[in-house]
Amino acid sequence: MRPVVIAANWKMHTTPAEAGELARLIAARTREPDVVRVICPPFVCLAAVRDALLDEPVAIGAQTVHHEARGAFTGMISAEMLVGLASWVIVGHSERRRDAGETDEIIGRQLGRALDAGLRPILCVGEQLDDREAGRAETVVERQLRGALTGHDPVRLGEAGLVVAYEPVWAIGTGRSAHGADAAAMADAVRGAMGNLGWGAAADAVPVLYGGSVTSANIEEFLAEPAIDGALVGGASLKADEMAGIVGRAGITARARSTARARTAGSGAR
Ligand code: PEP
Repeated sequence: MRPVVIAANWKMHTTPAEAGELARLIAARTREPDVVRVICPPFVCLAAVRDALLDEPVAIGAQTVHHEARGAFTGMISAEMLVGLASWVIVGHSERRRDAGETDEIIGRQLGRALDAGLRPILCVGEQLDDREAGRAETVVERQLRGALTGHDPVRLGEAGLVVAYEPVWAIGTGRSAHGADAAAMADAVRGAMGNLGWGAAADAVPVLYGGSVTSANIEEFLAEPAIDGALVGGASLKADEMAGIVGRAGITARARSTARARTAGSGAR
């Protein structure tokens, strides 16, 4: 049974004082026990958010991690440094691919560091607009998955709770989201590609999130798709009202899915 996950990517927003306050507010406005909530603030805000959320079942994630365990890498943050501050980590976000030159090979190594440190990874994949227009979206995403996942044991990644976020680059921060049906087709493509990469049936257990201009007004379109298990939310995740709407809708989905599953299991048992 795949969880419903709403992860907030705050990018380069908030000071530590603002982050603690915002995390507290969002946590209080999004209490949905059936939804896995994750907040990913900037590195320097992790401690403030952790302290603000001590009594709240909200997970904390980092926005990236270095691909080496330690060494002469000025300004970088290793997975080991995150222990005690974060339990999740985003890897492969398109803004890191674009601004920090992170390649699929580096992202694969980041995944390895995350696993070594016991961090739960959210692996981001997604095509550029010209790829989509040329009908290459699935090929690009499959290549990104192969580049990042090759060499990793599917069992280990599955046990670590790997989550994949399908984030079409043209939809991130643009206000132009994908259509729910297209995002669902890409979620199916993600699981299909993972199946071909040695995951077999275990690919079906991997939660796939949609990301790209998600708001409280359009989240329903994505969660109506059984292939989509939640969202990675950027801009809207900085607004408590928006997060309340998004997580509230995710709670309805999570309950409906678990009722449907219980019904199916019940009819199978008879
Ligand atoms: C993101 O940062 O992953 C993202 C999807 O951003 P936005 O929701 O602002 O498009």
